[in-house]
Amino acid sequence: MISSPEWLHDKQLRLARKNTFDGALVLGTSNFNKSTGRVTKPINPFQKYIDPDTGLIRTDIIRPRNCPVCGEAPGQGLFIKDGFRHVRCPSCDLIYVSLILREDIMVQYWREEIAWMGVLQSGPQVDMDRLKFTYGLDVASSLCGIENPGSLLDVGAGTGTFVRIAKEAGWKTTALEFNIASAESLEREGYRVIVKPLELADLPPASFDLITLWEILEHVAEPQLILRNVSKLLTPSGILLILVPNAGSLVTRILHEKSNTFGGHSHLNHFNVTSLKYLLETNGFEILETETLLTELGTINNYLDYQDPYLGDAKPFFDSLTPEIIHDRLWGSRLLVLSKKKEASKPNEDDFHDSPDSFDPSF
Ligand SMILES: [Zn+2]
Repeated sequence: MISSPEWLHDKQLRLARKNTFDGALVLGTSNFNKSTGRVTKPINPFQKYIDPDTGLIRTDIIRPRNCPVCGEAPGQGLFIKDGFRHVRCPSCDLIYVSLILREDIMVQYWREEIAWMGVLQSGPQVDMDRLKFTYGLDVASSLCGIENPGSLLDVGAGTGTFVRIAKEAGWKTTALEFNIASAESLEREGYRVIVKPLELADLPPASFDLITLWEILEHVAEPQLILRNVSKLLTPSGILLILVPNAGSLVTRILHEKSNTFGGHSHLNHFNVTSLKYLLETNGFEILETETLLTELGTINNYLDYQDPYLGDAKPFFDSLTPEIIHDRLWGSRLLVLSKKKEASKPNEDDFHDSPDSFDPSF
């Protein structure tokens, strides 16, 4: 077993470490958003498909769906953003887009989308992401309970910042990415890349000690399908790391549709603690750690001061609202959850290393 690092169990040390990669706290909200290029991001690429009479995306390019977590029929309508209707599930509390783009259109969009690459590859974003990914990997590693880093699958590897860090830390990494430009870039760097959706990846069962879903579940039409496949691919004692935008965050509760997290062509599902727990438990997972990252305190202050939430420069409105309070209440803008399969019986060290079923992805 890895001995748990001191910071993992010390609340103040852990908070201090989280604050180092909260870009808006470190650099200021306006400065961080400008320096990462967020001010120049393109408008909704599906704007031209909005019917001016209804304000909704044209019916010939969308498909209906029930709640993708619990299957309930669409519940309370919340708002329309960029032509997409956002609803709240009365059963599991998921906020989701009930009429999403047709599958062929969505697949083509993700294969060809490059608009966010500039943001993800900007200097300040890479600096913050490296610290954030290292933090997540450290938390996951301490829970894996194995002496050495094992095999890791990063689903939706994007521009590859996380797999680079994981490889540097000694993990045997596999990246799953079907965006053409990202996949080609990762392949050029020598990573093993599966250029397919997870359900078509044809990977050996029980072959990964750690599977990571960094900001993936908000984008997929069928999160239940992802979880079923992840469950098959994890070793019995394997760890699943999930990071999603937090619909229960303070910033999202205040801004509602004005929050940049809502945009129906790519963010289809908005989880909170309740709905993510439901998704995990219905797939046989038990939760080991739940915490939030990124405060967006500056965004909140800007909005309360009638400024642009993302480009304003307001002074703090509530002096008493601190990063500690935000994260204590799970009000941060990202939800980080680590879990493992319930049926996992803890193998002893010998069983683990000698198992004939264990797959050694020495790529
Ligand atoms: Zn539901």
